[in-house]
Amino acid sequence: MILSSQPHPIIASPVDQRLSRITEPMADLFLMRPYPAKVRRIQRAGQLVRGLLLFLWLSANCLITAQAFDTGPPPPTFSDTKVDDAGLRKLVGKHLTLYTDLPASPEIDELPDVFDDAVPQWAKYLGIDGVGRTQWHMQGYLMKDRDPFRAVGMLPPEREGIREGFSIDYELWLADQPTAYYRRHLLLHEGTHGFMNTHLGSCGPGWYMEGTAELLATHSWDGKKVTLGIMPKSRDEVPMLGRIKLIQDAFSTGRQLPLSRLLQTNNRQPLTNETYAWCWAFAKFLDSHPRYRDRFRTLPKLVRESDFNDRFRHMYTNDWPELVQEWRLFVGTLDHNHDIERSMIDFTPAQPIPPKEARILSIAVDRGWQSTGWLLEAGNTYRIAATGRYQMGDRPKPWPCEPNGVTIRYYAGRPLGRVIGTLYAGDELKDNPEQGECPFLQPFDIGLGTTIQPDQSGTLYLKINESPAQLADNSGQATIEIMMVGP
Ligand SMILES: [Zn+2]
Repeated sequence: MILSSQPHPIIASPVDQRLSRITEPMADLFLMRPYPAKVRRIQRAGQLVRGLLLFLWLSANCLITAQAFDTGPPPPTFSDTKVDDAGLRKLVGKHLTLYTDLPASPEIDELPDVFDDAVPQWAKYLGIDGVGRTQWHMQGYLMKDRDPFRAVGMLPPEREGIREGFSIDYELWLADQPTAYYRRHLLLHEGTHGFMNTHLGSCGPGWYMEGTAELLATHSWDGKKVTLGIMPKSRDEVPMLGRIKLIQDAFSTGRQLPLSRLLQTNNRQPLTNETYAWCWAFAKFLDSHPRYRDRFRTLPKLVRESDFNDRFRHMYTNDWPELVQEWRLFVGTLDHNHDIERSMIDFTPAQPIPPKEARILSIAVDRGWQSTGWLLEAGNTYRIAATGRYQMGDRPKPWPCEPNGVTIRYYAGRPLGRVIGTLYAGDELKDNPEQGECPFLQPFDIGLGTTIQPDQSGTLYLKINESPAQLADNSGQATIEIMMVGP
């Protein structure tokens, strides 16, 4: 809920004691608030009706009607004279009225337009119908100097501890930010909370609440149209955001947050920017991955359920070990422009290779790890050879490449474009998928060819050595020959 921002690179900030005081009421609001009156009436209507409503609520394509929850009073009103006298300006959009002490400029005055353009995207993503026809409206306060807001009564004593951003019912507060991008990001983050809370009655548990807000706040804006939920193409596209850098730094120093702890994120306490980064990364991963996305997008229907996390885990029971390996690969290779779809891994069980028979297949150079479909068994000896000529990138000019790679450019310590392999022993990783090394982060060289004798049986996966952010402009394939040459 509260975002803190610092110039890139961002360093986790210590707990702000003033913030601790204000985070308790926030917890009441989002996690312990009694059910609204409308829901209380439903609860009294008896078991049969409740069961029917629950069925409807969970129906896959059921849209939630806008304004289904009456969440608290409307925002206070302030006389224009008092606002003027305090030196504040009032910017009015269709879905947002924003008071600010900042002088007129395009990047400030367009904020209601950004917000208005986000509303139908929030509604679509969260499965809420009818928002465009409603009077749904939030009131915001964008503050550089807090004194005029205090003078008018827009910053009551219980909101004094707000550090960066805060949202309750139909109001949101924003501390001004050094970049236009991050100011919009903060507005969209708090707006996502406000939209979810007033339409869904909750934002779900901490990781989902902050993950969804960060997912939908990460945006592009061309001056007319905002696009929510982007994967940033570069640092320059999202000045001051720093989420990807935080994950890279955490991973490189062995501070990968286990999923079990991520799912227990408690945003009733102030969170570090690194925690926001983990929440964003997990939401972005699930929301972009073709195999996990559809299930993830049903979660808005569950935000008011006390066993949200149990239901979430249950949805992914059958492929949780594979999901965890792909998640570990994602955070271990995360970069701007990361291509999650091209990095998707096929976990279909493989077959053992018959002795002395060559198996020939090809791997695409514009994809991540690809299953060969062949199981290499412990104790046997295999020869793997690669041939072919393919293209790495197309700007400023195409880089022709062969299986040994381009020796003047490196990625992850190996020549760019080199054919590499790994063995995935699925069964061994099923019980504790987060333990030990992720095999997809521990490749071995193949290049033009190699001979291996595995210690442990596993499916052979292959790819060419390149960042998941740079796959889309590759073309061609490498031809692979696999043969068991001895016991
Ligand atoms: Zn938040």
